[in-house]
Amino acid sequence: MSYKLQVGEMKASYLTDREIWAHFNYIFSSKSKNSTTYKFVLIKSLLENLYNVNEKLELNYSVLFSSFSKIYWNLVIHHNLNQINMTDKKAEVQRILLKVQSKYQIPHTLVFDRLSIELQIEIINKVTKRCKINVMGAIYGDTGCTIYDFDNGKEQLRLNSTFYSFMQRFQRVLNYLTNYHLALFLEKFNEKGDITNLLLKVENVSKRSSLDQFYHVLSAFYSSKCFYCGKAIKKENAHVDHFIPWSFVQADQLWNLVIACSACNLSKSDKLANKLFLETVIDRNNTLIAIPEIRKREDMRVYTNTKLKDLYDYSVENGFTDVWMPKKIII
Ligand SMILES: [Zn+2]
Repeated sequence: MSYKLQVGEMKASYLTDREIWAHFNYIFSSKSKNSTTYKFVLIKSLLENLYNVNEKLELNYSVLFSSFSKIYWNLVIHHNLNQINMTDKKAEVQRILLKVQSKYQIPHTLVFDRLSIELQIEIINKVTKRCKINVMGAIYGDTGCTIYDFDNGKEQLRLNSTFYSFMQRFQRVLNYLTNYHLALFLEKFNEKGDITNLLLKVENVSKRSSLDQFYHVLSAFYSSKCFYCGKAIKKENAHVDHFIPWSFVQADQLWNLVIACSACNLSKSDKLANKLFLETVIDRNNTLIAIPEIRKREDMRVYTNTKLKDLYDYSVENGFTDVWMPKKIII
C-alpha cells in the first residue's frame, strides 16, 4: 500500500523517455486508481515548480503544496467543482477547504491569492498534512518508485535526474496532457456543477489575480523605464511582464519578471523575447540577489543564472519559436 508510505526511496537512477511515457500513460489510464483529482493536481504542481528545485533537484513541500492548495482552492471554492468520482462524497482535501471556507465565511468569488497570507498558510499546512498520507505515495507507487523519492519527515522530495530532464523537454505537452485529463475527470463527475469553459478554467486555475506584489519589489530599485524599449513609464502604465511567457512557465518567480510599458507587454503577449534580452535579465537578477532581503525569498533562494538560461533554451525546444522584439528601442 504505497500511498500510506512515509519515506519512499528511488528504485532506479536512469529512466528512458519510453519508460517515462509509459508511466504517464499508466497514470492517465483507467488502470491507475484515480478516484479523485489528486494525481493530476500533483503533476500540475510539479510542473509549476520545475524551476523551484535546488541543485540536488530537491523540492520542499512548502512550495509544492502551496501550488497544490492554490489549484484546489480555485477549483473547489472558486469554481465549485467536485473532485471525487462519487457525487454524494467529497475528496479529503475538498472537505478541508470547504470547512475553512465555512469557518471564515469566505465568499466563493475569492481566489486563493486574494486570501490573507495567514489564511493561505493555514490552508497550505492542512493540505500538506493530508497530502502526506494520500498523495505522495500514490504517484510514487504508480511509477514503480522511480520518478522521485520523498521524505515526509523532512517534507521534501527529490526528482530523478532523467525524469527532471524529461519534464523540462516536454513541459508544454505534459501541461496540456494534464489539463486535458483533469478537465475530463471534472466534466465526468460534475453533472450538477458549472462546467462551461471547463478546459479554460483548468488552464487558468493557477493564474494570479494580480502581480502587484511583484511590482512593489521590482519598482523599489528599478528605474522607471520599460525593460524592453527603454521608454519612461508612469506607474499606471507599468505592467509586470513574464520574461519567459507565463503560458510556458505557469509560475510567477521574481527572477522571471520585469517591468514593461503597456505597448511592449501587449505586443509581446506570450511570445519569447529576443535572446539579446537574456543577459540583461541575468544582470538584473544578479543585482536582485545582492540584496539580502530579496535573496531570502523562497523563489530567489534557488535561483541561478544557469537555470534562467536553461529555461530560455527549453522554451524554444518546447515550441516557443515566435521571437519578439520591440519596434523601437530608446537607448
Ligand atoms: Zn516598452
